[in-house]
Amino acid sequence: MAADPRENVPLAPFTTLGVGGPARFYTRVDDATGVIDAMDWAGARGLPFMVLGGGSNLVLADAGYPGLVVHLALRGVAARVAGDAVDVTAAAGEQWDALAAFAADKGWAGIECLSGIPGLVGATPIQNVGAYGQDVSETIVAVEAIDRRTRARVLLDNEACRFGYRTSRFKAEDAGHYVVIGVTFRLRPGGPPAFKYAELSRHFAERGIKAPSLAETRQAVIEVRRRKSMVLDPADPNARSVGSFFMNPVVAAGEFDGLAARIIADGVAASPEEIPHYPGGSGRVKLSAAWLIERAGFMRGYGRGPVGLSEKHTLAIVNRGGATAADVVALAREVRDGVRDRFGIALQPEPVFVGIGLD
Ligand SMILES: Cc1cc2nc3c(=O)[nH]c(=O)nc-3n(C[C@H](O)[C@H](O)[C@H](O)COP(=O)(O)OP(=O)(O)OC[C@H]3O[C@@H](n4cnc5c(N)ncnc54)[C@H](O)[C@@H]3O)c2cc1C
Repeated sequence: MAADPRENVPLAPFTTLGVGGPARFYTRVDDATGVIDAMDWAGARGLPFMVLGGGSNLVLADAGYPGLVVHLALRGVAARVAGDAVDVTAAAGEQWDALAAFAADKGWAGIECLSGIPGLVGATPIQNVGAYGQDVSETIVAVEAIDRRTRARVLLDNEACRFGYRTSRFKAEDAGHYVVIGVTFRLRPGGPPAFKYAELSRHFAERGIKAPSLAETRQAVIEVRRRKSMVLDPADPNARSVGSFFMNPVVAAGEFDGLAARIIADGVAASPEEIPHYPGGSGRVKLSAAWLIERAGFMRGYGRGPVGLSEKHTLAIVNRGGATAADVVALAREVRDGVRDRFGIALQPEPVFVGIGLD
């Protein structure tokens, strides 16, 4: 940590949702030693400590953060051949989408469907970032981190990260214990792009492209995302969000059967096939949160005053201008409770809440 932290620094401008109060203390660090110094600085004063990346998955309380906020600015990308693959190690402060562009440009497959996702590399393992049928747990071979409890630099392999759907140990049982300083992805030179989603297949079919390249796949993903306001764009009011606010619920097969029977009895769908559902792993069923939200009466653009659902994507809660964290949370509660009352399904939020929550 080169200089003493600044005091009372507004955090909302560092977030994509644009809500939340100031940090009591704020600093930027650009190397691992700086991260440890910052931990020591906060520790010596008995202050809480939190890491800020690109601020694209955060809902910060209006009261602000009562401790030290450490903005990560560690930079650097290195590639090394590993048999038929190439291992790309990126520092936590690198922009994620710049890395996705770099890989597509080199012809290295594995992260092309994750193009256009905001935020920094260091945050990608936290919630096992994913989109269009790909997620980072498929390519991460190692995460380098500093353990806040021991100040030791540790290297965690893929298994040790305990990745799940939009989660990992860093977001769950070990939340706040590790600061990720670098991530290594194993990519496949010359590998074919993955496009498991119908939307992407349709995109290429419409253009008569039979075997899209990685670069074409990246462009297609960005185009599809842009139509849904899922890429950051200061000119797009629907992009002032944290992306999807709710995760797709994953339920036991029996629970799905019961839900489908209720939905059909209610006349919301005529058959289970009309209810969007996908394999959720281990015999479980993944439902579409967007479908449930819409069928519970919350359509795109729903909301009042400074917050609303995106006009382009039911799952995004948007700051229409001048919203507070309390406004965001009030709308999120209304949607969550509406879905629970209508379908008995408890939607779980995707972003990280700091100093505020839905309960
Ligand atoms: C328009 C839009 C579209 C999005 N689309 C997607 C999508 O398709 N798929 C998807 O998975 N997500 C998506 N997101 C969510 C978000 O972009 C990702 O979760 C992203 O990885 C967050 O990165 P960040 O650097 O902004 O993290 P931040 O928001 O700064 O931090 C998020 C959490 O991670 C912690 N954290 C951040 N960096 C580190 C680190 N180095 N070490 C330890 N903890 C850390 C923070 O303390 C915080 O708890 C979208 C968001 C937006 C705004």
